[in-house]
Amino acid sequence: MNELDQTEYIAIMYGVQRMRRGQRSRILPRMEQHPSATAQLHQHASPAGGSVAVTVMEGDGIGPEVVGAALRVMREAGARLDVESCRAGAAVFREGDVTGVPDDTITSIERTGVALKGPLATPIGHGEKSANVTLRKIFETYANIRPSRELPGVLTPFSGRGVDLVVIRENVEDLYAGIEHMQTPQVAQSLKVITRYGSEKVARLAFAYARAEGRRSITVATKANIMKLSEGLFQQAFDDVATEFPDIEARHVLVDNCAHQLVMRPEQYDIILTTNMNGDILSDLTSGLVGGLGFAPSANIGTDTALFEAVHGSAPDIAGRDVANPTAIMLSCVLLLRHIGQADAARAMEDAVLVTLEDRRFLTGDIAREHAAVGTSRFTDAVVENIGRAPVMETQQRTTAPFLPPAPGWRPSTPPPEQRRVIGVDVFLESEADAPTVGGASEACLEGLPMRLKMVSNRGTQIYPGEPTAASTVDVWRARFMLTTDAGDLDDATILDLLARLGRRMPWVHVEKLQEFDGVPAFTKAQGED
Ligand code: NAP
Repeated sequence: MNELDQTEYIAIMYGVQRMRRGQRSRILPRMEQHPSATAQLHQHASPAGGSVAVTVMEGDGIGPEVVGAALRVMREAGARLDVESCRAGAAVFREGDVTGVPDDTITSIERTGVALKGPLATPIGHGEKSANVTLRKIFETYANIRPSRELPGVLTPFSGRGVDLVVIRENVEDLYAGIEHMQTPQVAQSLKVITRYGSEKVARLAFAYARAEGRRSITVATKANIMKLSEGLFQQAFDDVATEFPDIEARHVLVDNCAHQLVMRPEQYDIILTTNMNGDILSDLTSGLVGGLGFAPSANIGTDTALFEAVHGSAPDIAGRDVANPTAIMLSCVLLLRHIGQADAARAMEDAVLVTLEDRRFLTGDIAREHAAVGTSRFTDAVVENIGRAPVMETQQRTTAPFLPPAPGWRPSTPPPEQRRVIGVDVFLESEADAPTVGGASEACLEGLPMRLKMVSNRGTQIYPGEPTAASTVDVWRARFMLTTDAGDLDDATILDLLARLGRRMPWVHVEKLQEFDGVPAFTKAQGED
């Protein structure tokens, strides 16, 4: 054992000793279940202990090896499954299906509502969509759940710290809505779409999940200080839902600080709820805290469908060589088994994986370190041999009740504002000219219209009127026009008249109405705008 390994191993063993002495640590089991969660049975639960139909896509690259290994352990652990084997990914793309997911796979998932998916390779440069994104969109799996928990025998710089957290990521909105435009050859725009519906739905799921796991706090991680309306709406929806769950502590953190805190004191977090882009980044970070991609499971939860997969991709460099670590997909199967109400099989499978890791005699090359590495199949043999054994680190065991996400047809009940007014319009104009020229040309279009030019900005900073600034400009300008009367709306005919006049001087590339809800502006100001 080298010096670094010894230090890390001592840290782990210190943790084990502390727990053996009966001291409760942050990674003690959460045996208690919230009373309201115990009675809930998920819609995909086994009917009276019978088999449950599950769609299985073994995927690309290392997918067939790790999925095959995980299916074997599930069966040996007592899972009662009717597996529907389906295709998706590279071979489907090669046959000319640009979605990567054939119709019969979609039909199977619609029928079963539960899928286990191996990694799917995304073709580069052929115009095809990602098969993963296709599945996420079709089944609207709006929540991505990624637990990161310290694992026995998996030595990391954070070993012994008791990391045991879950990142819940909104999975369909935000910048991933994929609404992008080149406004000019120089300027690209990507819309960040955050809705009350999507934010409240994932917040409700997070609180239900927290109760089912007996977790005590949810921290919402946002950038609401900068994106006050979009990230602010996500935070507001969280705050509103939190009032219905007084038993769960609701906390806020700015996402950049969250990244910092995760490296400094990761053990302080229980559940982190966040928007899509933030969650994509943070959850890769949290995977790294506990050993990396080979150990990171995930669940994608939709209203009618749940899709379970490892976080890692198809790892083509190690495919077909019997070296891939199947732990991540095995732990994803544990989540699947809990989801379908087969808690005993889930527990048996999880324990067997943990015993194997803790034992450290049969480890794959990504974590073997001082030991000789074994292949995927030998590791899997060891897991099967360990079914029925409990890990020494009893702290690693967890009892999780099924949880109930928002029901099909759920809609937020937030009342709409009593008054809405259109009080202005932002017009994005293409011009190579300078700010005074663009501003002057915009003002010249206003004769006879009930509007004034409030300002012209470039890249979010007000440039006109005002003193020359150091800000560099590009060829897309935003001209902000405001209604000059205090009553009534800026009507469409007036806006269209303005656009026609502007269009005769310079092309407009985008238009956005400026609204007021109950007297409060529903838009942000430019940097430097009064
Ligand atoms: P990757 O497949 O996750 O692999 C990155 C590296 O991580 C591998 O080269 C390997 O590194 C290591 N690794 C990953 N999983 C492992 C495992 N189970 N056991 C041991 N080592 C493992 O990422 P990528 O190379 O960026 O992506 C490859 C393809 O997968 C791409 O087509 C991508 O689009 C796709 N992908 C799919 C999903 C998904 O289906 N959800 C997710 C991510 C990526 P070393 O052997 O070099 O140590």
